[in-house]
Amino acid sequence: MLVPLRAILEATDKYDYAQGAFNVNAVAQAKAAIEVHEMFRSAAILQGADLANGFMGGRTDFMNATLEDKIKGAANIGDAVKKYGENSPIPVALHLDHGRNFESCKAAIAGGYTSVMIDGSSLPFEQNIELTREVVKYAHERGVTVEAELGVLAGVEDHVFSNNSTYTNPLDAVEFIKKTKVDALAISYGTMHGANKGKGAKLRKEIAIATKECLRHAGIFCVLVSHGSSTVPQYIVNEINALGGDIQNAYGIELAQLKEVSHCGIGKINVDTDIRLAVTRNMKELFVARPELQKSPSIGAIYQLLEEKKSAFDPRAFLPPIMDTVMYGNIPDEDVAAIVNCIEKGVREVVGTLIVEFGSVGKAPLVEKVTLDEMAERYRKEGI
Ligand SMILES: [Zn+2]
Repeated sequence: MLVPLRAILEATDKYDYAQGAFNVNAVAQAKAAIEVHEMFRSAAILQGADLANGFMGGRTDFMNATLEDKIKGAANIGDAVKKYGENSPIPVALHLDHGRNFESCKAAIAGGYTSVMIDGSSLPFEQNIELTREVVKYAHERGVTVEAELGVLAGVEDHVFSNNSTYTNPLDAVEFIKKTKVDALAISYGTMHGANKGKGAKLRKEIAIATKECLRHAGIFCVLVSHGSSTVPQYIVNEINALGGDIQNAYGIELAQLKEVSHCGIGKINVDTDIRLAVTRNMKELFVARPELQKSPSIGAIYQLLEEKKSAFDPRAFLPPIMDTVMYGNIPDEDVAAIVNCIEKGVREVVGTLIVEFGSVGKAPLVEKVTLDEMAERYRKEGI
């Protein structure tokens, strides 16, 4: 069933584990992600980034997506997650990643998202509080969970771009959480968006520990979130390059460090790049194994894009020839089915691994099955 993210976060907090949160940019990704979580009896957190919603709204130049595109795309992702998640035996949350403004959050909620992130991290502290508070009021009235961000991560992730990072100050974080009443807070503590995190990135886990400890003393609930936490599996990077790709200096966060912070107050770990890499490798492999598909009327154009963009690994760069499949899950012929299989297999490989590594395997029964209406009522009673 679909649940507000809060229900899943409460379980991670109570039982001391972390839950991977995986970005989806196509119906097939949502389907495969839910299925693999079911297989491992883990709750599922699927997320659509603000601009990914533009892409799912049919905007292949998603960096220029308008609010209209995002509203349409949010509904497409929402419909897909409902289709595969509503009758699923595991709790499924659909979360907006890096909501850029209040309007984006409203569009996501209208599309069926059960959780939103409002990213005011580039604003001055007081303005970030003000914007976040506004979104919290709107979302909580509807039982929808809210994640905010404090501190700046370096790196590139859709519209999120920053050269420099500033680590989150735990004292500020506690004040921010008290004033905004957010359910989750993304902190900056050494992770970075994108595939070039640099070799040997070191997480400042003390920032998470200090923040969480102060929250516990004050009796305040809030789960900390680790963004930019892809592990960038080197075997996949090597395979892509062996298949003619050109991906350089791609390094992620060590799995061992992510497992460690999962016991330091971090309950949600965002991963996007790993899935992109696996799907890209699978598509390259497909066209090598079955060269006749290079000239396929329906997917030959995908092969052309893979050949042109050798350093790219975002499937959105390659999938525009099959947008009907991306947006609605339609599979017109067997060639398109082969691409869909590449997408699904990539999701299963990466997501399955991380469900086990982050410790959410078998934890689905620990998540309270609560509806948005029930959650709204709870917020109302508690005055948050
Ligand atoms: Zn992020």
